[in-house]
Amino acid sequence: MTEDKEAVVNHSSDVNVYMIQAAVLRKKGGPLKIESLKLEGPRDDEVLVRLVASGICHTDIDFCDHWYEADHAVVLGHEGAGVVERVGKSVKSVKRGDHVVLSYQSCGSCPQCRSGHPAHCQHFYEANFGFQRLDGSNALERSSVHGHFFGQSSFATHSLATERNLVKVSKNLPLKVLSPLGCGLQTGAGTVMNSLKVPKGASIAIFGTGAVGLAAVMAARLAGADPIIGVDIRPKRLRLALRLGATHTIDNRRQDVAARIADISGRGVDYVVESTGHPEMHQLAIGVLNPHGVVALLTGESGMDSLPEGRKTLGIIQGDAVPQHFIPKLIKLYQAGQFPFDRLVKFYDFRDINRAIADAKRGDTIKPVLRISEA
Ligand SMILES: [Zn+2]
Ligand SMILES: [Zn+2]
Repeated sequence: MTEDKEAVVNHSSDVNVYMIQAAVLRKKGGPLKIESLKLEGPRDDEVLVRLVASGICHTDIDFCDHWYEADHAVVLGHEGAGVVERVGKSVKSVKRGDHVVLSYQSCGSCPQCRSGHPAHCQHFYEANFGFQRLDGSNALERSSVHGHFFGQSSFATHSLATERNLVKVSKNLPLKVLSPLGCGLQTGAGTVMNSLKVPKGASIAIFGTGAVGLAAVMAARLAGADPIIGVDIRPKRLRLALRLGATHTIDNRRQDVAARIADISGRGVDYVVESTGHPEMHQLAIGVLNPHGVVALLTGESGMDSLPEGRKTLGIIQGDAVPQHFIPKLIKLYQAGQFPFDRLVKFYDFRDINRAIADAKRGDTIKPVLRISEA
């Protein structure tokens, strides 16, 4: 097949526009509606990706329910995986037909990006939550809808990404399984491995055992932490935490977390990964910390508390991971059976996106993944 004839709108003046389907948010709280939209073809530094799958992350849900301001319609989604359909002139690292996993966006030119820390990009907010390119343009302009969420807007049949937020992956692995690596799993595992660098034998508690927290549990097991204490309000998730590497679990609706942690460890813990975002859990995390211990806050909070005896809190974004290095590392661990994140995933057809979101909100599904097209 040449040049995707069926996808191109053949207006004589305008052959560089693709008709795509995307789940559009027009009202706070949703529902998302699948609509036909016009997406510009890739610019010189962009890559058009046909999405095979997209994970749904809590940031998508929080944006829909709490942060959306209804001033313009948007396309969410930031755990895309798919096949490269077309590349811009200056793109070197991928070609048509390559399989890619999409991750967060960064500018590439600020001091943090240049020193290899794109998760600390000075333009992180605009590049991921700006719903436009960094130059202010928007590839869905012709449909009066805003895209470019996390440099992808992956709740769609097609996305525009750049080399900075895509990772080429082997064609031997199913893309629909790999899609959630781009945000939630990278964040949980990267927090333990890159940000905290949890050493063997350290004690750790993980507050919230959703996808991010369970990725942290698996990474803590790989690091040799002991004990690894999972804390959540949902017994089903706690049972899964035990199977994935937690040595103990605490149901914080039924048990006093601080007292149980003291029972288990004989004191407090050296590390807490706080993934729930509840202020009382943030306080509780500080309360159970050993001297020189660290609380990792995964909610975008700055972590500026000054605490006694060398304790500290760290605000962490995307587990300080450079996607092009870290995602291949997680894939290797997955293939070796040491990072079995596929056990968190439940698949849904793209048209069932609102049901997938509802299941994730109720906690019935840990990591919903939408099947968008065949690989
Ligand atoms: Zn930057
Ligand atoms: Zn996310």
